[in-house]
Amino acid sequence: MVEITGGCLCGAVRYRLAEAPYNSGICHCETCRRASSAPGLPYAGVALAAYAVTKGRPVTYRSSARVLRSFCGTCGSPLTYFLEDKPDKIDIMTCTLDDPEAYPPTEHAWVSEKLTWEVLSDGLPAYATGEREG
Ligand SMILES: [Zn+2]
Ligand SMILES: [Zn+2]
Repeated sequence: MVEITGGCLCGAVRYRLAEAPYNSGICHCETCRRASSAPGLPYAGVALAAYAVTKGRPVTYRSSARVLRSFCGTCGSPLTYFLEDKPDKIDIMTCTLDDPEAYPPTEHAWVSEKLTWEVLSDGLPAYATGEREG
């Protein structure tokens, strides 16, 4: 059985994944930038049924009309992205994994909104938009 664990910076929120992510990327859209206070936000998609919070209770808010994000209410670490149009999936923030090296990004999304001073040099595919939105 696969068991992948992660959590926020302060340890108040911990989660477990029962299966490996089906994708991994970095989103450069304005919403992700503001949500993470960073030029890009690395994410990994998993089946919603495979995601379980094992400690604490993340705070959830609506960042776009159809998007719910969660974060740790104590330390502020962004934790998840949930698009209501795809209710059987959820993205976890790759850098909250205990082993982020295990699922490196394979693509860039929303580079049409990327900041000019963020230079991509890893050679990965870069898409103007993405399946994701806001
Ligand atoms: Zn925390
Ligand atoms: Zn985004």
